[in-house]
Amino acid sequence: MPLYEYEHTGKPCKKGKTFEVTQDFEDDALEKCPHCGRKVVRLISGASIQFTKGPAELKNMGFTKLVRRDKGVYENVTAQDGESKVWEQDKPETMPDFKSRFTDGD
Ligand SMILES: [Zn+2]
Repeated sequence: MPLYEYEHTGKPCKKGKTFEVTQDFEDDALEKCPHCGRKVVRLISGASIQFTKGPAELKNMGFTKLVRRDKGVYENVTAQDGESKVWEQDKPETMPDFKSRFTDGD
């Protein structure tokens, strides 16, 4: 189930200004803090991106997504040309080249 983040519109309570609640997709957003009963709003968190973006989109955006296939073995589902599709933790040569995804801005 997805985790949603809520923020108090007014004063925070002892749970803090923001707190997280696990809810079903169909559940309505909470309007009141379950701890103090004051008004809260649901925040759109980064987590929701993971539900809507597939590997192809992540790859285009320059992200690397690793999916665990076995103990210490990960499949790089966003592997670029020339990169190993499988990353084995005890084989450094199969490690994705994260550095090549970043530029200095020129
Ligand atoms: Zn509260």
